[in-house]
Amino acid sequence: MPMKDALDCGDVLQLLSAYVDGELSPELCRAIEAHMAVCHDCFVVLDSMNKTLVLYHRLEPPEMPEDVELRLFQVLNLDDFLT
Ligand SMILES: [Zn+2]
Repeated sequence: MPMKDALDCGDVLQLLSAYVDGELSPELCRAIEAHMAVCHDCFVVLDSMNKTLVLYHRLEPPEMPEDVELRLFQVLNLDDFLT
């Protein structure tokens, strides 16, 4: 790995919030991803940040399995017919 692309854990953690916000240059993103590939600690930090972000941005309930959803609609339609 060329030295200019090598980040240490401190660099990665400092850049991480900008990275998940998509504010970094493609070069820096690649350098961070290269570090993640070899550094489990930083990968875990990124992973938990991503989960937190997903929770922030997606407040909808988790998706229902398709067949459950289908049965629910069928039940609702039936109820409409009955009333
Ligand atoms: Zn690291």
